[in-house]
Amino acid sequence: MERTLCLIKPDGVRRGVVGQILERIERKGLKIIALKLTTPSADLAGQHYTYEDIAVRHGEAVRNALIKFLTSGPVVAFVVEGVSAIDNVRTLCGATEPLKAAPGTIRGDFAHHTFALTAAVGESVRNLIHASANAVDAARETALWFGPADYVTYRRADQNEHFLD
Ligand code: ADP
Repeated sequence: MERTLCLIKPDGVRRGVVGQILERIERKGLKIIALKLTTPSADLAGQHYTYEDIAVRHGEAVRNALIKFLTSGPVVAFVVEGVSAIDNVRTLCGATEPLKAAPGTIRGDFAHHTFALTAAVGESVRNLIHASANAVDAARETALWFGPADYVTYRRADQNEHFLD
């Protein structure tokens, strides 16, 4: 059983597809155990997308554009729980660049943009959703966005101890 941190980024909220994205998570059988709508500060966005990760892998310009984008409006932050939740949610999201994201994935179905276009205009690529990449990131990111009091305990109607029927 794992927990993973997801953000519906400001493009997803502005486009009014929050419900459609959450529906895909719920349909998969994964369980939402914390959720909020919030406009992140630059400090929070900077801690989420760390220099050591984003700037090192993609360059400082990409990180700056990403922080500007993430703080441009409300995001829906939520924590998902389930068996291999981290990999399951990443699969639902699809590839980072919408051009490369397969049909059937969130990014593949709701976006078509390219890194080439966003680089040319100095913007971050609009790809609707963030999901933690691995267990270390998931632990750090869930603790960054949520405190212990934010989690709720309930049972999905289709859930028993191991999400098996
Ligand atoms: P993912 O979100 O799929 O885990 P990364 O952690 O590599 O991908 O990147 C974080 C975010 O930074 C991406 O979701 C995307 O919004 C943005 N991004 C990454 N690479 C680029 C790029 N080359 N050009 C524009 N934006 C980028």
